[in-house]
Amino acid sequence: MDRPAIIHKTAADLRLPPNLSDYAATCRDFSWAAQAKAIRDSQGLPNGGLNIAFEALDAHAGGPLRDKTALRFVSRNAAPQEFSYAELTRQSKRFANLLRELGVSKGAKVFVLAGRMPQLYIAVLGALRHGCVVTPLFSAFGPEPIITRINLGAADLLVSSEELYRRKLQGRREQMPTLRHVLLVAEEGSRSVCADPDTLDWATLMAAASDEESAAPDTRPEDPALLHFTSGTTGTPKGVVHVHAAVLAHHASGRYALDLRPEDRYWCTADPGWVTGMSYGIIAPLLQGVTSVVDMEEFDTDRWYGLLEQERISVWYTAPTAIRMLMKSGTEQTRRHDFSALRFIASVGEPLNPEAVWWGKEALGLPIHDNWWQTETGAIMIANTAAFDIKPGSMGRPLPGVEACIVEHLEAEGAAPQVRVIAAPDVEGELALRVGWPSMFRAYLNNEARYRKCFAGDWYLSGDLARRDADGYFWFVGRADDVIKSAGHLIGPFEVESSLMEHPAVAEAGVIGKPDAVLGEMVKAFVSLKPGFKADEALRRDLLAHGRKRLGAAIAPKEIDFLPKLPCTRSGKIMRRLLKARELGLPEGDTSTLEGGA
Ligand code: ATP
Ligand code: MG
Repeated sequence: MDRPAIIHKTAADLRLPPNLSDYAATCRDFSWAAQAKAIRDSQGLPNGGLNIAFEALDAHAGGPLRDKTALRFVSRNAAPQEFSYAELTRQSKRFANLLRELGVSKGAKVFVLAGRMPQLYIAVLGALRHGCVVTPLFSAFGPEPIITRINLGAADLLVSSEELYRRKLQGRREQMPTLRHVLLVAEEGSRSVCADPDTLDWATLMAAASDEESAAPDTRPEDPALLHFTSGTTGTPKGVVHVHAAVLAHHASGRYALDLRPEDRYWCTADPGWVTGMSYGIIAPLLQGVTSVVDMEEFDTDRWYGLLEQERISVWYTAPTAIRMLMKSGTEQTRRHDFSALRFIASVGEPLNPEAVWWGKEALGLPIHDNWWQTETGAIMIANTAAFDIKPGSMGRPLPGVEACIVEHLEAEGAAPQVRVIAAPDVEGELALRVGWPSMFRAYLNNEARYRKCFAGDWYLSGDLARRDADGYFWFVGRADDVIKSAGHLIGPFEVESSLMEHPAVAEAGVIGKPDAVLGEMVKAFVSLKPGFKADEALRRDLLAHGRKRLGAAIAPKEIDFLPKLPCTRSGKIMRRLLKARELGLPEGDTSTLEGGA
């Protein structure tokens, strides 16, 4: 179906005037120094201190939001569990005091391995308050990826649910020599009975700890706060270090990119095991004083539509992979639900095909706002905000305080990259950000050389290719690693995938370059189908013809294979490098983050 190139915002789309009403003026007047001062002046720590947990909780705990629900945990079989801002503050102080009593000092590394349960949130916030560096581990990781990360990060303390610990780590303590303490959270209402010696019981220690502040947090803006591992889409996951100053960017982006405000009921579907679930599932919503709904269950189409309706979600932050799964099940189900509370939907993690933006409008009543960032950037950098029209397929425009551009690489002597900014619009090149935003990563764990290679002069180089149009919108082309060179053309897989997604049979598409004697590389697509479609020759021919018609012969896929499901990372990204390795019979490389893998 041919669609217009732009979705103009209507009053019905907006419901409320956006937080960011005059985009150009806000960008012009914005400064990170002013943001920092505003925080210091309102509820900052003395002597220029800054602490993520303090900003997220204490700022509200003494004010009008103190009794408001901060977190609401919902699950299939138990009653919802709610924590007010005041209660969450108390619990986080309790955990900080518990750490102190265990002799865990500032700067110690606290790893968390648990499902989306309240104790995980309390441990994260309490450890941040205490000045520890927090690393979440995704709960579906197998033993190897968990142990590798614990050792890479030299974890001092692990908080885990007893169930996950028993399944994955019991009896392997000697493989994690840096761990001084393991704290186990048992089933609700019971005590840990783990057979491993040297494990501690969360409930007992928490009950014994005080929930009074013994001393205000003493972290500085540049103290490390978070260590996140990347998704591992392009290779071995990297450890990415963030500092407490990142909270400034969490604050600004929660307001401007997600348009959050205290009256919202907000649902971020990302797991806190990944950076999105930490920055926007825990920190940013608390900073904005919203009520966050946390679903403790796994993805389920019916359940998700039901939650949006029954929980009266007003702002929803999700990912293309989830949207594709919802799209796959058709629009029939959506008609049975009332999504009238929804006023803003955003997506991150992968390119959002135009088809998905439109699906939002048709099935949920609102277009979906794509935004772009990375584990390294710590917070949303480029976004379709509530304040301007959407060009479906574009990632939007840089947020206030963010300067983005497209650069080309120059031949450089030595290791340091050199780049030139491409001022002209519509030219493809590497997406770069001007250094200086507060949530920029401060290191790759144990890899200073790799860190340095990410910078050229004042620019951070993202490793993603994009172009900027004359209106200042950025368009994702592909990861530098994934771009296909075919008969002299540079082809971004995203464009090809988006056009395949327009075909009614296609649920997911992943495109690679396959070595070809004539073309250099040939465009090859892998697709999975929606229910009711048969993977046969007729459909293959139809898809090939659809591609040629949409894209022209030079860019269209020359080969299409059907797969029941495309390989994805656990954070929901299509792993094109794996499609390619399998196609070429090459080693698969690091698959620790493969969905359904180890
Ligand atoms: P690794 O660095 O280990 O290969 P990763 O890059 O997938 O994994 P993340 O930091 O979780 O790890 O993901 C950031 C990347 O995700 C971006 O560099 C980009 O390639 C992709 N991405 C995120 N949001 C978008 C978006 N809105 N549009 C297109 N791509 C996106
Ligand atoms: Mg990356």
